[in-house]
Amino acid sequence: MHEFTAEVEALAHEILNYSLDRLRIDPPLDHPRSEAELYALVGQTITGNGLGGHDALGIFQKYLATSCISTDHPRYLAFIPSAPSEYASLFDLVVAATSLYGGSWLEGAGAVYAENQALRWISDLAKFPESAGGVFVQGGTVGNLSALVAARFHAKKEFGSSKRWVIACSADAHSSIAAAADVMDVDTLPIKTDKDGKLIAANALAAISKFESKNPNHKVFVLVGTAGTTNLGIIDDLNGLADVAGELKIWFHVDGAYGLAALAAPSVRELFNGVERADSLIVDPHKWLFAPFDACALIYHDAALGKAAHTQRAPYLETLEDESEFNPSDYAIQLTRRARGLPFWFSLAANGSAAYEDAIEKSLQITREASELIKAHPRLTLLCEPTLSIVAFTRDGWTLNEYQEWSDKLLADQIGFVTPSSHEGLPILRFAIVNPWTKITDIQAILATL
Ligand SMILES: *Cc1c(COP(=O)(O)O)cnc(C)c1O
Repeated sequence: MHEFTAEVEALAHEILNYSLDRLRIDPPLDHPRSEAELYALVGQTITGNGLGGHDALGIFQKYLATSCISTDHPRYLAFIPSAPSEYASLFDLVVAATSLYGGSWLEGAGAVYAENQALRWISDLAKFPESAGGVFVQGGTVGNLSALVAARFHAKKEFGSSKRWVIACSADAHSSIAAAADVMDVDTLPIKTDKDGKLIAANALAAISKFESKNPNHKVFVLVGTAGTTNLGIIDDLNGLADVAGELKIWFHVDGAYGLAALAAPSVRELFNGVERADSLIVDPHKWLFAPFDACALIYHDAALGKAAHTQRAPYLETLEDESEFNPSDYAIQLTRRARGLPFWFSLAANGSAAYEDAIEKSLQITREASELIKAHPRLTLLCEPTLSIVAFTRDGWTLNEYQEWSDKLLADQIGFVTPSSHEGLPILRFAIVNPWTKITDIQAILATL
């Protein structure tokens, strides 16, 4: 180990050159291959004597990397794409090369200091107080789970622990909320949205009151608002939901894994009013904040509440219990962690927050232009005016089969990656635009195939 031989040095250059080319040259979209195809191309890679770095890299470059869809391609518009800035991707190499430990101040003070400044930038955008703080976790799913666990920890103190706990959220909340409920062995109360797809205060209050009076052994302990649904980008009435949570004295969590990035965009900032009243929020820098996978910022309004719920205790950890030091491990379900917030921090520090504001506004602008093109298209119907950077529409007369065939051909022709979704039981198409390199000509090229 750490024997920097001429061979290692040569491999280092190869890897750096490959990484540089991948960042510099627009990659093809590529496509998955079946396991049988991959076996035929690649065969067994784990061998007694090892392939050597040069050959292993060659196999990766030629067959494995090209069997992965390029999530940062400007015409990858399915799900939520990824669009790391060059600086963020490059810094991920540094995070790996330096073996940083991001769990404790004792071991990673410098890294934790930088990550905390990045979290503070988000906290300021959300108008969270000085007491706010949290940690970068793997993704929105773990972020939501950790916030909900903290919410239940505090509910037990407030309401005792004899009842069956329930998470109240919109019927359109992300699947990770139901997954968290399963892990926690609690129930969910999905609440009907209004006609625009938003969870509003009146519906939330009525549903929770009705549910609790019918089920006296159950207690709703948290209300989840979504700030940008994954399918359509819809933002719940956060101020109204904060009122309801306040009235019921329960935790208010905002899931903004995709949408809260747009806190940085002045043209839509007011849609998030009320987020400052949340007890916790999440936003994924790997979605619309130009960081590579995988990073979710989990922030508590009062960091101490997250810490009380999550600190792990063990004899060998006691040495870390210095109250004046900030240990990221204490704020979520995790102990060992890489400093996964650093690529985001580096990009934000190097590019400046104004560049972030511009890039997010640019996605919003392309989305507005895309929706105009769809409205003008003879065979397409816009589903609804986009709220953020997701535009959803239907192709007149198509069934799910035709959408799927079109999607498959679009990828096979290497034009774009757009997958069918559904809304109220009917198939739809959606473009999720978070990549600042997606141009209106990319949208036109895809629309021309419809
Ligand atoms: C993507 C998403 C999640 C899940 O985040 P992961 O990082 O994929 O785990 C949760 N909520 C919303 C609203 C999302 O868009």
